Amino acid sequence: MPYPFTIHHLRFTAVVVTDIEMGEFKGSALRGAWQSHLRTLYCAERGSAARGAVDPLHASLCPVCYLLSREADKSDNRRPYAFEPPLTPQSRFVAGERFSFGMSIVGRAIQFLPYIVLSVQQMGETQGLGRAIHSDRRRGTFRLERIAEINPLAETERTLFVAGDPMIQMPQSPVDEAQVAAASAAWAARLADAGNCLTLEFLTPTRIIHAERLVHRPTFVPLLARLVDRVITLRVQFAELPPLSYEEKGELLAWGEQVELVRDETVWWDVKGLSTRLGRPQPLGGFVGRATYRTAEWARLLPWLLWGASAHVGKNAVKGGGWYRLAAPAERTWKRDT
Ligand SMILES: [Zn+2]
Repeated sequence: MPYPFTIHHLRFTAVVVTDIEMGEFKGSALRGAWQSHLRTLYCAERGSAARGAVDPLHASLCPVCYLLSREADKSDNRRPYAFEPPLTPQSRFVAGERFSFGMSIVGRAIQFLPYIVLSVQQMGETQGLGRAIHSDRRRGTFRLERIAEINPLAETERTLFVAGDPMIQMPQSPVDEAQVAAASAAWAARLADAGNCLTLEFLTPTRIIHAERLVHRPTFVPLLARLVDRVITLRVQFAELPPLSYEEKGELLAWGEQVELVRDETVWWDVKGLSTRLGRPQPLGGFVGRATYRTAEWARLLPWLLWGASAHVGKNAVKGGGWYRLAAPAERTWKRDT
């Protein structure tokens, strides 16, 4: 039995203990701190794991190697998680303040939830997060206050953990195939009533490389191509479902060719991060804002767009890049012509 394809959405709420400076691209700080903490804490073979020379038995049993061993891969597609950074422009959080962030966890990787939770908690309390702004090169710290499971398609939220209670509930309502199918049908009907115009709202920098070139505008085919790459890789790796055939992918991209970008309200957010591994600034920039598309037939494309809203698209997906949502036609609230 193949493991079903699912994406769990967790939402962490934290209280700042000592001031935290996360920089402009907060997902990068979160992911960097979490990854290094997870590795230090739980992997006995981290030296060999970093060199990609780990024993296969260890690799299949160790949560760190399962979650992070694919880090050496150049694309983010094979990584079974994605951070959802706080969307506020604020980058510094002072003692006593609260902030929250999300993490999407794909398919089988959810079995390692206890490690994920413990590493987030300990990263906050001991190693800290963001820039080393305190004495002795210490980072700011936080205390985990609450973890909730949310399901953006079912619009549900359930508490899994609250500080002070030693119990943690396992999540039980991930985004799954049935929900994506139902949501796709509902969206198709809604779009048909609205002139078949669909608006995507890119919440974090979306960095798409197509035919080896950086794409500066949210044109549809490059976006769809990267979306299909990410979702298919995750399905194959973490749910053991078959890949798309060459013909199936070609057919899907042909549907994508029919989609016209009718209104581009995105801007380029040029942001750089520092890669500790590479020791040099890393370009993280991408487009953010709204883009509206039109096509006569959305039905085949909607499931991919809905999965992508959970998995993120493009470069830096795991650090929170390429996070977008489908906006209802009536939701036009900003930049309205008056
Ligand atoms: Zn390991």
